[in-house]
Amino acid sequence: MLQIKQISGGYPGFQVLHDLSFSVEKGEFFGIIGPNGSGKTTLLKMMSGLLSPKKGDILLQDKPLRNFTTKELAQKLAVLPQVQSEAFAFTVKETVALGRYAHQKGLFQTRREEDEQIIEKAMIATGIQPFQNKLLHTLSGGERQRVFLAQALAQKPEILLLDEPTNHLDLSFQKELLDKLNRWVREKGLTVISIFHDLNIASLYCDRLLLMDKGRIHTIGKVEDVIQKQTIRTVYHIEVEIYNHPKMPKPQIALLPSPLQMNPSD
Ligand code: ADP
Repeated sequence: MLQIKQISGGYPGFQVLHDLSFSVEKGEFFGIIGPNGSGKTTLLKMMSGLLSPKKGDILLQDKPLRNFTTKELAQKLAVLPQVQSEAFAFTVKETVALGRYAHQKGLFQTRREEDEQIIEKAMIATGIQPFQNKLLHTLSGGERQRVFLAQALAQKPEILLLDEPTNHLDLSFQKELLDKLNRWVREKGLTVISIFHDLNIASLYCDRLLLMDKGRIHTIGKVEDVIQKQTIRTVYHIEVEIYNHPKMPKPQIALLPSPLQMNPSD
């Protein structure tokens, strides 16, 4: 579905990614993990077409991303970026409706009945329908995150790219969102590529993980091949214990607080 071929690049005068190659299959729940600054967001930006690689190619269904128009790309791929703190003067529903833009036809780009239904469904799926007429800047961070998720869903993408989708959500909304994504992946063949900070959540929901380290791929593979004591030690420089989830065949990480030291200079 999405092939990353020997990409390198980053920002003017600053190379972030070094020679990355991998592919993501249709209907996969694919997680990107790694320490702060390891290049996860830069990689996601390149996969979404926001940033061009300096070298290498990204192919979406065998066609280079750069050969898609913005509108064509938006029909295939939706992005939920990390934090939206801007207070737009839009209502919730208007914001979700923007997701239909790429699918609207004709000179005046009017919303059709079909668009209305898709917008409605996206609002129901994310539980934001009750406050659809509120202005965006009056919402909490978690509510706003769900509005932007609804916008991405209204795009009806084949691939959904997410940058830490749960970082503003409380535990119950985290679970609800991830369960929903999981269902769309399993039942509708949606491809989800998501950055996760929480490695235990990534382990529970993802089919495969890509562990980034200093702009390179450190490990890529099944969750149990990536979430290993030695790998975490090398990349994150911490000691952890790995145990099996009590109900699922998935590795989980237990942090070990360092012993207290009687050092008055600290
Ligand atoms: P991660 O998502 O893993 O935390 P990023 O991809 O955001 O990592 O950042 C990787 C590196 O690129 C960091 O050193 C960061 O400072 C740098 N960087 C990120 N965005 C920009 C930018 N717009 N311009 C220049 N450097 C950037």
